[in-house]
This record gives sequence, structure tokens and C-alpha cells, in this order.
Amino acid sequence: MAVKEALDAVVVGSGPNGLAAAITLARAGLSVTLFEKRDTIGGGTRTEELTLPGFLHDVCSAVHTLGVASPFFQSLPLQDHGLEWLHPEVQLAHPLPDGTAARLYRTVEETAVRLGTDAAAYRRLMNPLVRRWPGLAPDLLAPLHFPQHPLQFALFGIEGLLPSNLLGRLCFKTPAAQALFAGLSAHSFLPLNRPLSAAFGLILGTLGHVAGWPVAKGGSRTVTAAMASYLRSLKGEIVTGQEIASLHDLPPARITMLDVTPRQLLALAGDDIPDGYRRKLNDYRYGPGVFKVDWALKEAIPWTAAGCRRAATVHLGGTAEELSNGESEIWQGKHPERPFVLLVQPSVVDPTRAPGGNHVGWAYCHVPNGSTFDMTQRIEAQVERFAPGFRSLILARHTRNCVEYERYNPNFVGGDINGGVQDLRQFLARPTLFSPYQTALKGVYLCSSSTPPGGGVHGMCGYHAASCAIKTLKT
Ligand SMILES: Cc1cc2nc3c(=O)[nH]c(=O)nc-3n(C[C@H](O)[C@H](O)[C@H](O)COP(=O)(O)OP(=O)(O)OC[C@H]3O[C@@H](n4cnc5c(N)ncnc54)[C@H](O)[C@@H]3O)c2cc1C
Repeated sequence: MAVKEALDAVVVGSGPNGLAAAITLARAGLSVTLFEKRDTIGGGTRTEELTLPGFLHDVCSAVHTLGVASPFFQSLPLQDHGLEWLHPEVQLAHPLPDGTAARLYRTVEETAVRLGTDAAAYRRLMNPLVRRWPGLAPDLLAPLHFPQHPLQFALFGIEGLLPSNLLGRLCFKTPAAQALFAGLSAHSFLPLNRPLSAAFGLILGTLGHVAGWPVAKGGSRTVTAAMASYLRSLKGEIVTGQEIASLHDLPPARITMLDVTPRQLLALAGDDIPDGYRRKLNDYRYGPGVFKVDWALKEAIPWTAAGCRRAATVHLGGTAEELSNGESEIWQGKHPERPFVLLVQPSVVDPTRAPGGNHVGWAYCHVPNGSTFDMTQRIEAQVERFAPGFRSLILARHTRNCVEYERYNPNFVGGDINGGVQDLRQFLARPTLFSPYQTALKGVYLCSSSTPPGGGVHGMCGYHAASCAIKTLKT
């Protein structure tokens, strides 16, 4: 590879974390070049015309509560580089078998008053978390460390460490509140009877109130396009269409940042990895995968529950019990008849996504890692169940299974979109207990979602990894 002059840092991978690392290094005054194997940047934030001309589909991420709440993103002038968050009136809706829907609004109060007899319980659970979020965020969105706010962290831990099913039953009596909480918790990809699954429900619910669940105007690609534009303004360089097969293929640099997961690090470093560290990386576990469908639609989805028509994100899984049973089946290697479906209808708030008043739909469900089973019919049956007439609106569809996702982006190992299981063990050791970003190779760092704080479009992994590298450089 041609080198113009010695670089301070190289980054492999242009996902939100690779770009976050590059920006953090460039902001510290270091020269940075980033290499991306595909012809376009963005990792899990690309937007493409997957179905018909003019229909813009988010290939991976679609809804950005983690992005809008990210302290790192908030520190960047992304709006000046083209990013605009669009907030729906209803942050999230969860239709129920009786034709109603539980709804998450921007405020705890608006959400609580619609939960009937669970209104007071919802306020009791969420108000303290919303109040404490500014203190909690730096501790929750960082590698393992002694908390800056130990009491707040401990209080969160008491509830967050519980299985979601248990906390949902302890707090709520109504099917609506229980289902809303179960749907939020199911973003963990964990069975809802596992410890720590409640933490995801608590964090994602809290973020709905402190930051919202927006989509990006024009599609998720605008998130990383804004990051790339800002990086270039800092004199960072981006090279696309350049796959790095071995660390030896990279130009010499004091810092090497890898936006890849442990399995790819093993391949990139080959025999250079010491045995002890190799064992740790080999022990790292990947979780369930996803099966996704994108639709070009004639009209907006005709939800029975009116609240769903005003939401960008809709959780389809019926009651908490039904949802929990389906999520457990995946860990037994099965494909649920009635899967929990995460559906996003960005065109409800963003008319730029489809031409002539048409709409787009985005949905995925969890499946066992590596699955090639076609879940299209089951996903569409779940939508039809809560929106009769949906199928008649489909102009075209595009599907992708786990194997196809890994082919699209090697970071999605077996279709796992979070860079590894997010259970208690890998909350503590992601991928290693101490210095999770630093590898056993001098100057080489991991910065992907396989490091703390884990999956999602927020850039916090890249920011912390680069901060660690800069600190090490100075010592
Ligand atoms: C279907 C789906 C839905 C999702 N929904 C959401 C959502 O709604 N909200 C949300 O916050 N998150 C969502 N996510 C998760 C989110 O996309 C990821 O957690 C996030 O993109 C991880 O960022 P990253 O930078 O760690 O890695 P990635 O975004 O995966 O980026 C890694 C990049 O590195 C490149 N690369 C890898 N190896 C090499 C190599 N050897 N040489 C050169 N380049 C290489 C890849 O091509 C890729 O561009 C979703 C993901 C998927 C797949």
C-alpha cells in the first residue's frame, strides 16, 4: 500500500465506531487514514434503494435513540454536516391483541396516563431514572470502571440486573405496560428470563423520555455521512473499496484502530497473536442473528390501533408472555411461529424516503445464529395480524438472512448485529475484562461494538477506544 508520509493512526472499518475513533484521533491533532472494504462508508448505517427506484431503505439500523442520546455524537457538529433527526409524535407503539396499543411518548407523564391502573407504577419506575440519567449515562456508556456516581449506579443495578419478566411482573399489572416493557427489553436479544435483560428495557425506555426515538432524515446513511464530512474537515482521510486482509497490509502507524469483531481480529493478526489472548478471543460468544424484510408500500400501514400510525417504531409480539416465549425459543435453536418483530416506518415522519406519497417499511425478527430460514411469511403475518390489509399494499420486498448479512458486513457474525452476546459475562468482559480496547499487540486497538458499551449506532466504543490509545501514546 502506497504511503505518502508516516501516519499517526490508521483505522480499519467505517462503521459509526470506526468513524468515531478516527474523529477522536483527528481531534487530538493526529493524522488519520481510514480504510473501508466496501465502496461506500457507513457499516451498519447504509441506506439503499433495495426494492424500487426512489424507495430509500435503511439496510441495517433505522431508529436512533442511542445516537441522539450519545454524549459523543452530542459533542460533534453533525447538524452542520447534514444530519437531521426527525421525531415522531409517538416514540414507540406496541399493539395488543385487543386492538389497542401501549405507547411510549416523550414524557413519562404522557406515557403513564395511557397505562390505566399502571400509571402510578410507570411513574414510580421511570421518573427516578429520567431524573438520574445525566449522572448514569457516563457510567453506563463506558468500559467497566468505578462509577462516578456509585449510589445511582447501584440503584440502577438492583433493577437492571433482574430478568425483564420478573421486573415487568413486579412493577406492572396490565398487559399493556408488561408488553411495552417486554418489547423494550427484547432489544437485548436475551431470553427475557435472563438476568440483565431488564437493563435494556429500563435504558431504552428512559432514552425515549430523555432523547426520543428519532429516525435520520434521508436515511441512516446521513449519520455516518455527517461523521465522514466532519472527519474530512479535520483533515482525516477515508479510502473506500480497500479490504484489509492482514495487519501487515496496513501502512505503518503508531496507532491501529480496528472496527471489527474478535473473530476478524484473529484472522487479521494471524500468528502474531499470543496464545493467551487468542484463547480469550476464541472464547468470545456471538448471539442470535436477524432475518430482515424491507417493503416498498403503496400506502402507510393500516394499523388497527390508531396510535401505531403516528409512531416510527412499532413492536409486534402481542403480550409479554407471547413475546418472551418466542425469544426463548430462539436460544433453543428454533424459529418462532409468531416472532417478535421490530418494525420501523420512517416515511411516517420522513416523506423523502418514498416517491409520490408511497411508503417504506423495515422489519426484522431474531433467529438462531447462522440461520438461513426464510421468516418473510411469519413476519408479514405478524404485521397483518395488527394491520389487516397490509399485504395488499406491498409493491416490492427485499429480504436478507443471517448468512447474507455476514456476507454484506463481516462484523455481523452469523447475523449477530451487536458484535457479540450482550449478557452479564460479556457486559463485564467485552471482549476482555481489563483494557477491553487494548489488544495484546502493541498499538493495536479494537473499537467496534464488540467493546463497551456494545451494539448500536452511538460511536461510544470508537470514542473510548481512541481516548485509550491517545492516553497510552502520552505515557
Ligand atoms: C438489521 C439491523 C438493524 C439494526 N438496527 C439498529 C437500530 O435501529 N439502531 C441502532 O442503533 N443500531 C441498529 N443496528 C446495529 C448497528 O448497525 C451496529 O451496532 C453498528 O453499526 C455497529 O457499529 P460498528 O462501527 O461497531 O460496526 P459496523 O457498523 O458493522 O462497521 C464495520 C465496518 O467495517 C468494515 N470492515 C470490516 N472488516 C473490514 C476489513 N477487513 N477491511 C476493511 N473494512 C472492513 C465493514 O465493511 C463495515 O463497514 C442494526 C443492525 C442491523 C444489521
